Amino acid sequence: MADIIIIGGGPAGVSAALTAKNRGKNVFVVSNGAEESTLWKAHAITNYPGCNNMSGADILKSFLQQLDDAQIKVLPGRALNAMRMGELFGVSVGSDFFDTKTLILASGIVQQSAFAGETELLGRGVSYCATCDGMLYKGKKVAVIGLNSEAEAEAEFLRSIGCDVLYFDKTFAKNYKILGDGKVSGVEAEGRVFDVDGVFILRNTIAPGSFLNGIALDGTHIKTDRDMKTSIPGVFAAGDCSGKPYQLAKAVGEGNIAALSACEFIDKRV
Ligand SMILES: Cc1cc2nc3c(=O)[nH]c(=O)nc-3n(C[C@H](O)[C@H](O)[C@H](O)COP(=O)(O)OP(=O)(O)OC[C@H]3O[C@@H](n4cnc5c(N)ncnc54)[C@H](O)[C@@H]3O)c2cc1C
Repeated sequence: MADIIIIGGGPAGVSAALTAKNRGKNVFVVSNGAEESTLWKAHAITNYPGCNNMSGADILKSFLQQLDDAQIKVLPGRALNAMRMGELFGVSVGSDFFDTKTLILASGIVQQSAFAGETELLGRGVSYCATCDGMLYKGKKVAVIGLNSEAEAEAEFLRSIGCDVLYFDKTFAKNYKILGDGKVSGVEAEGRVFDVDGVFILRNTIAPGSFLNGIALDGTHIKTDRDMKTSIPGVFAAGDCSGKPYQLAKAVGEGNIAALSACEFIDKRV
């Protein structure tokens, strides 16, 4: 079992991981590829000490090298959800499941809040992972709302196992409503209703309220105090996901505080 699992390998997650490791904790990071961090898109950073005019991509590469040097594992992939299990937490990544004493959410800016009906019908026809849940829909009609780079391949996978796939690409609609009473019966978009048995919503980031049930939000951000504690004891948040300003220095600083708070939480419990 891990002491700390960190969701997100951007500046906040990397900073949290290095601090946790220095404090002797058993920590690992789950993250999409580095190019999915918003920092990757920055051409030249001039407001972060020690890295003047470096590109965001080069800074990230050096951050990841530092994780490697510190022998901190980065598990590639998208964490699908986390759940409370008594005093512990469980985290699903693809079809794998990990348990941990604490969780640090460093998942970056929330590009979009959950669609209407999404959170209520999660696990009842709404899924974030074709590989994990696809077989449940063999021979059935499913919608794929493809908002990330792997979505087309995931839709192809669903077709290959015998699902009847209705594919909505990024340009189809800005908003969707997931319909159903207790289980998914359809998707509404652009004023039309499409009857389906399931819907796969494939984005890089998962809205925090869908990722971890019951976590308090402030708009689309995760609510934290100055110690980066969230409303759930044992869960901490850092970086863009905890609110503005969206800046590298803030993300790194908050990652450091979140890790120290997680270490304190673990040490007090022993
Ligand atoms: C074009 C541009 C220019 C910028 N320029 C500057 C600048 O000059 N100075 C400055 O200070 N800031 C700048 N920023 C902002 C800066 O990049 C961000 O504030 C910083 O990257 C935030 O770090 P973070 O770790 O919170 O999030 P991110 O860097 O976004 O990292 C989060 C990571 O978590 C991953 N992730 C999310 N959900 C999951 C999941 N469920 N499972 C697995 N992985 C997940 C994401 O894919 C991502 O890789 C710029 C941003 C942009 C877009």
